[in-house]
Amino acid sequence: MSKYDDTYEVSLIVPVYNEEETIEIFVKEVEKTLESVLDHIKIVFVDDGSKDNSKKIIKDLIKENKRISLIELSRNFGKEAAMSAALDLVKSDAIVPIDVDLQDPPELILDFIKAWRENNIDIVYGIRVDRSKDSGVKRVTSGAFYKIFNKLSSKVKIPSNVGDFRLMDRRVVDVIKTLDENNRFMKGLFAWPGFTSYGVEYKRPNRVAGTTKWNYWKLWNFALDGIFSFSSLPLRVWSYLGAFIGCLSFLYMIYILVETFIYGINVPGYASIMCVILFLGAIQLISIGVIGEYVGRISDEVKKRPIYVASNIEGSLKEDLKDGLHKTDIGIYVNEDKSKVNNE
Ligand code: UDP
Ligand code: MG
Repeated sequence: MSKYDDTYEVSLIVPVYNEEETIEIFVKEVEKTLESVLDHIKIVFVDDGSKDNSKKIIKDLIKENKRISLIELSRNFGKEAAMSAALDLVKSDAIVPIDVDLQDPPELILDFIKAWRENNIDIVYGIRVDRSKDSGVKRVTSGAFYKIFNKLSSKVKIPSNVGDFRLMDRRVVDVIKTLDENNRFMKGLFAWPGFTSYGVEYKRPNRVAGTTKWNYWKLWNFALDGIFSFSSLPLRVWSYLGAFIGCLSFLYMIYILVETFIYGINVPGYASIMCVILFLGAIQLISIGVIGEYVGRISDEVKKRPIYVASNIEGSLKEDLKDGLHKTDIGIYVNEDKSKVNNE
């Protein structure tokens, strides 16, 4: 396998959660649009604990199609964990995370491969240019998210309107594999290694079938995860705010002392005292909440639980991975560097 000659191999890694309606359509579409490079393409589905027929459909496809493999996770770990499993286990020259619902148009992969091989670009990502199908609220909030994220995160910047759909060279994937934090904010992790990158614009279509698993509450938590795991500014801001309020309080204290010396003790002041107490109480609660966000995440990280548990592998990937996987005593596969599964 080499990027520079005709032996290059690109794996599409496809997280799947209850997608029985879309899997076959996806495979057909990929084989049709990528016909010219099909000999170089592999498809690795990661079944993220689906409760419907998805797993069976993939296993049936594997029987007649050598291009397809399956990594089965032991339960639903989330899309990020599913992608991490594939990044760890797949050894191709380049990897393309792609959704099974065809919202990431496979024909773009031709451009990705071209930029990767001919122009030596390490990360080629898709930029969504037309979000007209998203609701107004979603467009505004997502735009605000990218702005806030990039303001707060001083080192890692993420391009706006770029999802997980991209092609990554082997060396980028190898760096990402070393980032073993449990909080998998993939857009941030994908941007962390650096290297050369290039964006290809595309219009994001609607889902071909099935329904999305996202809602606003999940998106909000996703945004918080991203910000808190890539910036510590929200923690530091309280010191500055505290210092600022402290200065104001000092000035106010001098004012009160002077006033008392001149006019004597003046009892009324209930309203102003209440305002100050309530204001400071609110500020303290907010700052404790922010500290809590970080402490919660630290506690997740120190437990060092595996990000995923791959319970089974099928298809050609199984052959490729003979020595890359460690089988534990209790019969589950885990990534080689995390050969110990922690007790809960
Ligand atoms: N997905 C997953 N695990 C989950 C939720 C989703 O593997 O817990 C997969 C899903 O099957 C799909 C991709 O992640 O291939 C994107 O999901 P979805 O289309 O629901 O998200 P959206 O496109 O609306 O952001
Ligand atoms: Mg989708």
